[in-house]
Order: sequence, then C-alpha cells, then structure tokens
Amino acid sequence: MDYQTAKKHIYQNMYMNLFIAIADDDIQKGIALIKEETTCDEPTAKCIWCDLKMDYGTKETNPIIKARENYQNEKLFQEYQYRKNAECPYCHSKNTKKISGLSKVGSVALWGVFAVGKVSKQWHCNNCGSEW
Ligand SMILES: [Zn+2]
Repeated sequence: MDYQTAKKHIYQNMYMNLFIAIADDDIQKGIALIKEETTCDEPTAKCIWCDLKMDYGTKETNPIIKARENYQNEKLFQEYQYRKNAECPYCHSKNTKKISGLSKVGSVALWGVFAVGKVSKQWHCNNCGSEW
C-alpha cells in the first residue's frame, strides 16, 4: 500500500487500539498497528503516525485522552475535597465527614448523659461506618 491509500484505510477504520497508542504517545505500538493494518513499510507508517498524532492527539479528537482527563480531574477533585478530612483510624479512608455540632446537641437533649459516648465522637467514616 502506498502512503495515500494506507492513510485513507487507517482513517476510515480508526481502531480503539490506535486511539490508545496516540493517548500513550506510544510510537512503537502505533507504527506496529499501522503496519499490521495496511502492510505498508516503516517510513510510510511513520508518516501516518505523525498525521494521526496531529489529527487525534487532543482531548477533542481522542476519546481516550478525554476519558483519562476526566478521570484525572475527578481524582484531583476528590483529593481536594478530602484533604481536610481526618483519616479513619480503622480502614484509613479519607472519605470521612465531621459529625456536626447540631446533631451532637440533639443527642444530648434527647438522651442526656447516655449520649455522651456519641457526643465525644467527631468523625464518621463513610467507607466503613465507624465513628471516633
Ligand atoms: Zn473507616
């Protein structure tokens, strides 16, 4: 296959593996895939790889890059959200929340001295459900 035919063939059948190779910037894998699909030679495959990087190298054009960026953002947001939280002493999760003062007051009013045990606890773990 010559360059034009091979490029057309690849662009018409954009394979998920190629999107992944572009997202990884894995030139060896990309060229191997192009050669496998088109049976073109190494220099031709390299040219097509460069074209692919240009055309599918951003999150707007490459669903893998977009998915990874979303995943990264979500992780960063979670880390930010949990940064001020106490770590659970039982399961070491940071998915915890502070027990609000209001619910403590309510406990005291309703249960008096028997609620003291609960009142002294400040944190609730959303992961394992323990309080401390
Ligand atoms: Zn826990």
